[in-house]
Amino acid sequence: MKALVLHGIGDLRFEEMPAPEPGPGEVLIRVVACGVCGSDIPRIFVKEAYRYPLICGHEFSGLVTACGAGVDDLEKDARVTAFPLVWCGNCPACERGRYAQCSHYDYLGSRSDGAFAEYVVAPRRNILRVPERVPMEVAAMTEPAAVALHALYRAGGLSAGETAAIFGAGPIGLMTAQWAELSCMGKVILFDVDPDKCALARRLGFRYCFNTAETSAREVIDDMTGGEGADIVIEAAGAPAALTSCLEVAGTGARVVLLGNPASDVTLPAPLLSRAMRRELSILGSWNSTYSALGTRGEWQVVLQSMAASALLFSPLISHRVTLAHAADTLTAMHRKAGLFSKVIIQPILG
Ligand SMILES: [Zn+2]
Ligand SMILES: [Zn+2]
Repeated sequence: MKALVLHGIGDLRFEEMPAPEPGPGEVLIRVVACGVCGSDIPRIFVKEAYRYPLICGHEFSGLVTACGAGVDDLEKDARVTAFPLVWCGNCPACERGRYAQCSHYDYLGSRSDGAFAEYVVAPRRNILRVPERVPMEVAAMTEPAAVALHALYRAGGLSAGETAAIFGAGPIGLMTAQWAELSCMGKVILFDVDPDKCALARRLGFRYCFNTAETSAREVIDDMTGGEGADIVIEAAGAPAALTSCLEVAGTGARVVLLGNPASDVTLPAPLLSRAMRRELSILGSWNSTYSALGTRGEWQVVLQSMAASALLFSPLISHRVTLAHAADTLTAMHRKAGLFSKVIIQPILG
């Protein structure tokens, strides 16, 4: 098969290699679409990866090609997507169904090979069928959409008329904003430092997206909430300044959710911490998403059902579609921030 193989920091090679074979309980999937995650860029260009050689890519959809021993409920060419976190099933977190907190997990696209390739192997229990009406490139966004949904669930108990402030208008921030709008919140307000991302958010129909390089988030939120502050605040940028702003705009009793991977240390001014205490903020971590291998209550299942109801919710987030042969150039451009990238989809099935 053809694959985009990472051999070292920044050393991406488009090369030919043997296709993987599905072991017992596993499924070989022909990749139709694989999204580029914000985490893939530092994984490829900045930080040491978990191992080399490595095929990245954990946001994918594809067609069942072959099944390993013991898998008999998926026909050839079945349209599927996969939860990339391979949980151990034997640790206390797994026993509680908290797969994202598994202490011995594997991960397609970061610890083992992922889907920047023509084929990928995933355990059967990680695989969900894609509903008929969902286009495959939209199904490839199940993972980030579930991560965004999880952050909103972490904020808990959304009530009518509440205001959500979301920092970071990348794909995850935009998806979080979309889920917030679907939950009929009062106002959903996005912030980003990049004017192009703000413009994109407005083109996508988000009425309120402000550039924090030009306007103070605190003033915007004060204006829009009559000085009350936001009820739900989501840090989806991973930037120290964004976290500070999150605490500045949070109103009394607000829930602040940490979603973006931190790019560096954060130092918080004492008066801001004291204000967070007085306002009795809840500061909540959010990690990955919930998945149910057998039931219907996991966030992955909710996402696929919502996509089936309206796939249009997600396809406008795609800014680029590239073949595997051209993917390295696009990934490099993303790393150099040469252009505006929202969700980038690699389509190995097209070459
Ligand atoms: Zn991801
Ligand atoms: Zn486990």
